Amino acid sequence: MAKLTFLGAAGCVTGSKYIVEANGKRLLVDCGLFQGSHELSDRNYQPLNVDPKTVDYAVLTHAHLDHTGWLPRLVGDGYRGPIFANAATIELTGILLKDSAHLQEEDALHAQKGKYSRHAEPRALYTPEDIDPVLKQLREMPRSGGFEIAPGFQVVSYDAGHILGSSSLELTITENGKKTVVVFSGDVGRYDQPILKDPTTPPRADALLCESTYGDRDHPSGSPMDTLADVVNRVAKRGGSIVIPAFAIGRTQTLMYFLRQLEDSQRIPRIPVYIDSPMALDATELYLKHREDHDLEFSREESGGKGDPLNVHEFHLGHRRARPASSGAAAARSEKCRAAGGVSGGGLARTGAARGRKAAAHVRARGSGESGDCGTPSTFGSRGQKRAAALAKRVRRAAEADLAGAWRAAGGAVASSGNPVANEVERLRGPVFRYR
Ligand SMILES: [Zn+2]
Repeated sequence: MAKLTFLGAAGCVTGSKYIVEANGKRLLVDCGLFQGSHELSDRNYQPLNVDPKTVDYAVLTHAHLDHTGWLPRLVGDGYRGPIFANAATIELTGILLKDSAHLQEEDALHAQKGKYSRHAEPRALYTPEDIDPVLKQLREMPRSGGFEIAPGFQVVSYDAGHILGSSSLELTITENGKKTVVVFSGDVGRYDQPILKDPTTPPRADALLCESTYGDRDHPSGSPMDTLADVVNRVAKRGGSIVIPAFAIGRTQTLMYFLRQLEDSQRIPRIPVYIDSPMALDATELYLKHREDHDLEFSREESGGKGDPLNVHEFHLGHRRARPASSGAAAARSEKCRAAGGVSGGGLARTGAARGRKAAAHVRARGSGESGDCGTPSTFGSRGQKRAAALAKRVRRAAEADLAGAWRAAGGAVASSGNPVANEVERLRGPVFRYR
């Protein structure tokens, strides 16, 4: 008789890990990090209840860290089997795990220096060296249709519409001639959202494991585009800045899409947009690359000859930390943006509090102005609020310097503006600042 064990996402919504046992084999579905309270994140340091060496296969619903972020520990603790996922999930997982390792290391270092850890010797859960072995074990499976993980474990993927590559998995377990269907919903997205296809529903299940993170909440009615247009126009009119915290994968791309749509339909003025996360830019490249996930409207936009629908007319990549080779795609994108009339180069600081998981889109309106609208403060947390305030200050400084205008006015070849505020912004831009 097949057996299902919950090793995470039970009593909480992170750390998704499920073991299915049948035919003398063990299949792990997802391998997520626990995130949130100290009590939860401490669980990441505990060994798995099931010895990873005894697990035969693993499969992923999507790339978010609460579904993949414990893979380096799994592999470190002896898992040597394949990790199946579709092509988009494999690429996104690579980006996310590298960033996660970096943050784990950074956190441990800060805790050591600041002596604020509750542990005598704070150590990183894993480091960047632990990521390559995981990537080597990733194996591509089809985006849709059936796939045999092993005899007795047949999986069919359905679009989940949550992030690029996200799938619900219908697992058919055949044991002693008896079939049992278990559906893992993974995280499920909304209908009628931009870019990605709508979620589809697996037709049947003997057992359904359904995510319920926002199960007790209703989506607000009304069009998010209308709301965004309203905010942008209001702040642009008074010459302010808007700082929008957004998850680097999914939300940032949706925001860029909406802003581009609003610009094209002339519902908002063309304004400079800054994104402070190279990871968000890498993810955006993947969003464009994996067309198998695109809904019809997005495909139409793409082929409509108006250019990249995830790129506003004046785009800036802002970050101050030198990134490893993975930011090549972001650099290429930055290049492309410049060619399209924008200004490339790094920019406003990505602070420690950014924690990689969230990017901030700094939508800058013309001229100088107030510190701007910062969303709902309660969604930030205190570190986030500090960060938002710091970003707003820097955005304002950049607005005062009007760097983009200065660059363009000088034929895009400014060496130094001589303006003390601009020089301060240049300093913040650090090694990634480029003159053209
Ligand atoms: Zn997710």
